[in-house]
Amino acid sequence: MHDSQYVAHHTQPVRTGDIITAENTYTSGAYQKRPIALVRGQGARVWDADGRQYIDCMSGHGVANLGHCHPAVTAAIQDQAAKLVTCSEALYNDQRAALLVELTAHIPGDLKQVFLCNSGAEAIEGAIKAARFFTGRAEVVATMRGFHGRTLGALSATWNEEYRKPFAPLVPGFNHVPFNDLEAMAEVITDHTAALLVEIVQGEGGVRPGDVDYFQGLRRLCDERGALLIVDEVQTGLGRTGRWFAYEHVGMAPDVLCLGKALGGGLPMGAVVWRESLGTLPIGAHGSTFGGNPLACAASQAVLRTLADEDLPARAARLGERFMAGLRAIQSPLVREVRGWGLMVGVEVRQRVTPILKELMDRGILVLPAGPTVLRFLPPLVIEEAELEAVLKVVREVLEKRNQRSVE
Ligand SMILES: *Cc1c(COP(=O)(O)O)cnc(C)c1O
Repeated sequence: MHDSQYVAHHTQPVRTGDIITAENTYTSGAYQKRPIALVRGQGARVWDADGRQYIDCMSGHGVANLGHCHPAVTAAIQDQAAKLVTCSEALYNDQRAALLVELTAHIPGDLKQVFLCNSGAEAIEGAIKAARFFTGRAEVVATMRGFHGRTLGALSATWNEEYRKPFAPLVPGFNHVPFNDLEAMAEVITDHTAALLVEIVQGEGGVRPGDVDYFQGLRRLCDERGALLIVDEVQTGLGRTGRWFAYEHVGMAPDVLCLGKALGGGLPMGAVVWRESLGTLPIGAHGSTFGGNPLACAASQAVLRTLADEDLPARAARLGERFMAGLRAIQSPLVREVRGWGLMVGVEVRQRVTPILKELMDRGILVLPAGPTVLRFLPPLVIEEAELEAVLKVVREVLEKRNQRSVE
């Protein structure tokens, strides 16, 4: 194994082309990829294998809320990696216990029972099972443009036909109604409805916040009809929208909360959290080998502590407001609408976003799409004000120049 050739090979600087060739050779094919190979990150900056620097407004789809390699998260991972990495839930663990205490202390409402898992989709799966179990009912109503993940249960709740169609039959009992339409929801809820499943700001669906009245109406509907309200905060949770949780903007609390993405500080981590009054699951009703492992729990505590110590939700609110004001001031009829909360920002344009994303990338700014015509900005909440200004300047130039070009 450790012959000199092997060692020599791995001491050569690895180039972008080699990385791309290797990945493409063994790829599942399931991902749309851009031709950049990242090898390092710090704060809101990332570097590719050829030493090129980018400002990261993708944050791994909202994972890197604390930026890359935040010293608190790095130290927690390094420390715990030398102590204990695995400890199944058949046993107790100090890091898991500390995380559960800290996490529930930050979640408003009486949401106290927690199932730890490893991803957003797993959190959705757990929430669906919990809702079916606690209500004794089978059906789930989700929303159009909603995105909840790609495992079969989560996929059944996801709206996009393109993702679902090739994999039928999916889990029965799922229904989709227009988002932010209380009447549509009221019409489909029956005695068989176990849960309504919604995002507070639809992420993949185009960065679309719902109205306060809508969510308060959903809360009332659930209370009247005995269905549970599941809120998917896999993308919006943990400071992203300017509050710890996006549901704090709308004056109600869910029965079941799904977390993921930013929760583990970059390590795979998800959580389902539900009201104490619902009770607990019976032994064996659910489980996960890696769920609640000490390494992820240590990283997650560092995330929660840093969000609190650095007051990052408030920082996201402040920077987001300024960023959106700057985007709204862009003089380009290409811009249809700027919307979002905190540092979850969408710019809907009157053309497909792919060439705009490419141009931004060529100028050192990484930005996500959210559907075909929306640019989605999810910068780390620690992004420096000067970095955000630099992003704004480039976006302005790109959009204003493109507009000129389309007029010529
Ligand atoms: C990303 C996402 C998921 C799925 O999370 P995975 O970790 O990719 O399984 C679910 N819901 C929302 C709102 C998301 O943004």
